[in-house]
Amino acid sequence: MKSSVLLIYTGGTIGMHTDPHSGALVPFDFNHIYEEFPSLRRLDVEIEVLPFEPIDSSNASPELWVRLAEIIRENYDRFDGFVVLHGTDTMSYTSSALSFMLNNLTKPVVFTGSQIPIGVLRTDGRENLITAIEIAAAKDSKGRAEVPEVSLYFQNRLFRANRTTKQSAEELSAFVSNNYPPLAEVGVSIQYNRNHIRRPKREGAFGIDTALCEDVAIVKIFPGLNERVFRAMLSSGARGVVLETYGAGNAPTKEWFIGALREAIESGISVVNVTQCSDGEVNMDIYETGVALQQIGVISGRDMTTEAATAKLMHILAHESNPKRIATLLKKSICGEMGQ
Ligand code: ASP
Repeated sequence: MKSSVLLIYTGGTIGMHTDPHSGALVPFDFNHIYEEFPSLRRLDVEIEVLPFEPIDSSNASPELWVRLAEIIRENYDRFDGFVVLHGTDTMSYTSSALSFMLNNLTKPVVFTGSQIPIGVLRTDGRENLITAIEIAAAKDSKGRAEVPEVSLYFQNRLFRANRTTKQSAEELSAFVSNNYPPLAEVGVSIQYNRNHIRRPKREGAFGIDTALCEDVAIVKIFPGLNERVFRAMLSSGARGVVLETYGAGNAPTKEWFIGALREAIESGISVVNVTQCSDGEVNMDIYETGVALQQIGVISGRDMTTEAATAKLMHILAHESNPKRIATLLKKSICGEMGQ
């Protein structure tokens, strides 16, 4: 039997083509996908398109994340897999958030997009789209989905979505997953890295959890950050802070800095430490500058990306108000977003 895939189009560069009259880039009508890409008919996949009013992903918000989760729930039984076309700028945020919102996922949800519009000759979107559909439809020899995860496909590599970051505004290979190997690599054939693909342990019923607390801030430290500015950042009303520190999780040991953070934590704010480096992880045991953070109750985000840490905080804070329990949940991997 043919596999079926729901293609959800939210916007972004991938959805643009050149208007034959004006020559300007205008949104492409994904309802006419087969006319534009007759080659899609050669895939042994039934594709249904669900187009949104397209947005640039700079305007993406938790409202979009909830809508996507609801659409996937409403259509879960009808399709074998889902492809979400999304702008690249915030794709890692949306897909990370979805990984926390979709529970007991047994079907693929593959995010993709492109750096060059799909209607431009040299587009990277055509290959991204076709392969993402193939992956969303792929089954193993037992008839189970090959990749029952929220993933992100870009330029020949399939990643666990909550491990990704957009690394380039120029290269076609726009995304990296520095702390986790690709789930699949695409050359002449698609090679699945089955040892790295997450499978639900027990097959509970699929469900969504759309509760999100938006009272979260990302605070990036830098040499020259002064006390007034830092205190203002911490008193923004956020219940959770993703603190982007240096290297292996280091930050100034100045009294005012540690003092401001301690006060914030004592007032009930949860602070998660992630590194500004593009790979490697936070280890607050190595340097005095990290130990000081640990002592006042800063939580190690280990090898989590900023995107995943932000989505995880939003998810946990929506369910929990006790800082100790929040810390316990933050330290555990929920859906493969951090190393064990
Ligand atoms: N600004 C666009 C977006 O994120 C960029 C892209 O899709 O590549 O929607």
